[in-house]
Amino acid sequence: TDQSKIRNFSIIAHIDHGKSTLADRLLELCHAVPEREMENQLLDSMDLERERGITIKARAVTIQYDALDGQTYTLNLIDTPGHVDFNYEVSRSLAACEGAILVVDASQGVEAQTLANTYLAIEHDLEIRPVINKIDLPAANPALAKEEVENVIGLEAADAPEISAKMGINIQAVLEDVVHHVPAPQGDPKAPFKALIFDSQYDAYRGVVVYFRVMEGTLTLDQTVRMMASGAEYGLVEIGHLLPTKLEPCKSLSAGEVGYLTASIKNVKDTQVGDTITTVETPAAEPLPGYRPARSMVYCGIYTEDGSKYPDLRDALEKLQLNDASLTFEPETSAALGFGFRCGFLGMLHMEIIQERLEREFDLDLITTLPNVIYEVTKTDGTEVRVDNPHNYPDPSVIAEQREPFVKVSIISPPDYVGNIMPMCQERRGEFKDMQYLDTNLVEIHYHMPLNEIIYDFFDALKARTKGYASLDYEFLDYRASDLVKVDLLLNGEQVDALSFIVHREKAYGRARRICEKLKENIPRQLFEVPVQAAIGGKIIARETVKAMRKDVLAKCYGGDISRKKKLLEKQKEGKKKMRTLGTVQLPTEAFMAVLKLD
Ligand code: GDP
Ligand code: MG
Repeated sequence: TDQSKIRNFSIIAHIDHGKSTLADRLLELCHAVPEREMENQLLDSMDLERERGITIKARAVTIQYDALDGQTYTLNLIDTPGHVDFNYEVSRSLAACEGAILVVDASQGVEAQTLANTYLAIEHDLEIRPVINKIDLPAANPALAKEEVENVIGLEAADAPEISAKMGINIQAVLEDVVHHVPAPQGDPKAPFKALIFDSQYDAYRGVVVYFRVMEGTLTLDQTVRMMASGAEYGLVEIGHLLPTKLEPCKSLSAGEVGYLTASIKNVKDTQVGDTITTVETPAAEPLPGYRPARSMVYCGIYTEDGSKYPDLRDALEKLQLNDASLTFEPETSAALGFGFRCGFLGMLHMEIIQERLEREFDLDLITTLPNVIYEVTKTDGTEVRVDNPHNYPDPSVIAEQREPFVKVSIISPPDYVGNIMPMCQERRGEFKDMQYLDTNLVEIHYHMPLNEIIYDFFDALKARTKGYASLDYEFLDYRASDLVKVDLLLNGEQVDALSFIVHREKAYGRARRICEKLKENIPRQLFEVPVQAAIGGKIIARETVKAMRKDVLAKCYGGDISRKKKLLEKQKEGKKKMRTLGTVQLPTEAFMAVLKLD
């Protein structure tokens, strides 16, 4: 293939600004899909992605574009996920490109992830082409959006195409812009083989399908590939191009091209995003820069409501992991919840997606514990431990130092809301760094904050206090020493392991009291009085009492109607099935869930 006719580009944007919709239009314009097969947001193939309207996994397609200059160009379009949890995947997609279309919603202008993604694209030296979308909206102000792009980002935007991806207005201008301004790839097809993995997927028939961009050299079917980070080697089964509706086998892939390979690979863990593929025949000396293994940021325990479904949960997690190397899990047991797994996620959205897929695709009823971050503890004997489950937190008497993860938070908002945002960050132990006017009607605020304070409800609270105008982005910063305590919950004097949590000392009391109140509200009366207590290292810091039940359920029936009695008894039995026995206390699953939901 003639590299001068190839364009490799991504579409980047703040979430909901219209990446996926634009991708659909580009495919349509290139007649990539027969009309009857065209569905909305074709690149978002997972059901969940469609329903939530988000792009979870990066996807790539190759399309042919007949440009106005009479030439046909091969366009490799890589759609990227827009959420902070998936930043690393975004960065790998960008590394596979020479250019990026920056979609900006004409009614919203520049938002936090517009900037974050632009910075990523700049880091990879991409030619960034702004496109102003949603000009059909009554609230659209393309001129203002362009001004923001110029002032805030510093990109020339006067000639940026003004489009409506939804209505299909001015789409060709986008492709003409790409063809004329995004540079063609320039790798040497005769050099040692180097390709960048930007995605991989498990398929029941082919094994793992690896998606990659050839940076240098040429790959042919007779070669043996080697994954440079893992060292694993594989004989090739198939290589080819990524057409929108199918994988199309071919004989060779060379510098500048985007394609896939299959090689009877059983596990996506052996083909991690960001790794470099080389060949045994023409080995590269150095891998491509930038590889890092996926890192779990948020953990929670996952259990099945019905304890006998434990093996099903394990199978489901194993299946999901085939496709998602960033999901981790290890068996754990809880006195309260039985057998389950401690699972690690990239962030809260990732966690919600996995929970939802387990329930939906595998038909499991789950109980999940409160999410927590991972803590580092130096013990008095000098040993280091990483704690991913609050229940296993070392006793205060053996802790020399404890550290929690901090993140760099960037919030972009109209100046009017700064007075609402700052107290909220302060309250969550945020350390103010700086504030900067990006434009007359946009400020960027930086904080260093404990990740623990962000994972519950920070995003929702931020949206609520800024009428949805503020946007948030964060990235891992470092671990910092912190005055943390473990709070235990006791029912009738017995500790409930699944309810333990780690919190900053100053917040322990308030949080403990709220949870006790919530437990009291949700625990049905028992035959005896039940004290609900919260304790730090054995010392009680909060207490509520669930009063004893006064009457037998049947007493309501006044002896009369026998069928009504039967019904009641049956109902009670039904209810029992869903009860969790915590020591001597019966707790309905819903009560448990309600408490775990917090605030
Ligand atoms: P993404 O998160 O950037 O991939 O955004 P999507 O493509 O999923 O679009 C988010 C929402 O904006 C969807 O409801 C789209 O229908 C809508 N949308 C996308 N482009 C346009 C447009 O040009 N005009 C209008 N009015 N809505 C659009
Ligand atoms: Mg999308």
